[in-house]
Amino acid sequence: MEAPKTYDNFPAWIAILSNLVSLSIYTLGAYILAGFGILFAILYLLYCLWLEVQILRKSCVDCYYYGKVCGLGKGKLCPLLFKQGDPKKFVEKEVTWAQILPDFMVFIIPLVGGIILLVRDFTWLLVALLIILGILAFGGTALIRGSFACKYCKQREIGCPAEQLFGGKEKL
Ligand code: SF4
Repeated sequence: MEAPKTYDNFPAWIAILSNLVSLSIYTLGAYILAGFGILFAILYLLYCLWLEVQILRKSCVDCYYYGKVCGLGKGKLCPLLFKQGDPKKFVEKEVTWAQILPDFMVFIIPLVGGIILLVRDFTWLLVALLIILGILAFGGTALIRGSFACKYCKQREIGCPAEQLFGGKEKL
């Protein structure tokens, strides 16, 4: 059977897979930062949670997938926490590299922490964990979005500021 051009509701396995990648990144990041003490790991996880809530609050409320299963699964979660916004706002939004810096910090914080820990006490285990984190954060995320989520996203067809940014039309 031919794959659809876009999904009105994504198959649940795509949402589960994309969340597994995100959760693996958060867990690995927290595990690495736990090298400084459990408090650092907890603060990092709270930061990840805050980021997820910001996405729901600022983007998902206005998204075509509000109330539906999107490729990242947040469309179903959003109505449990926030009222629906205005779909027109989603398209009109401007996303800049500066605005998505907090997303990159999910990788950068444990990377920097891991490097400091390596300088203090080198272990190959930590090197391996940092490599896996890098593969998940860049390769895993790119694979999920490029091959499963964004590829079949109806909101991308309607208009997606993030796609315009990654397409090279950013405003800083
Ligand atoms: S497609 Fe993106 S913005 Fe829309 S509901 Fe899913 S995660 Fe949120």
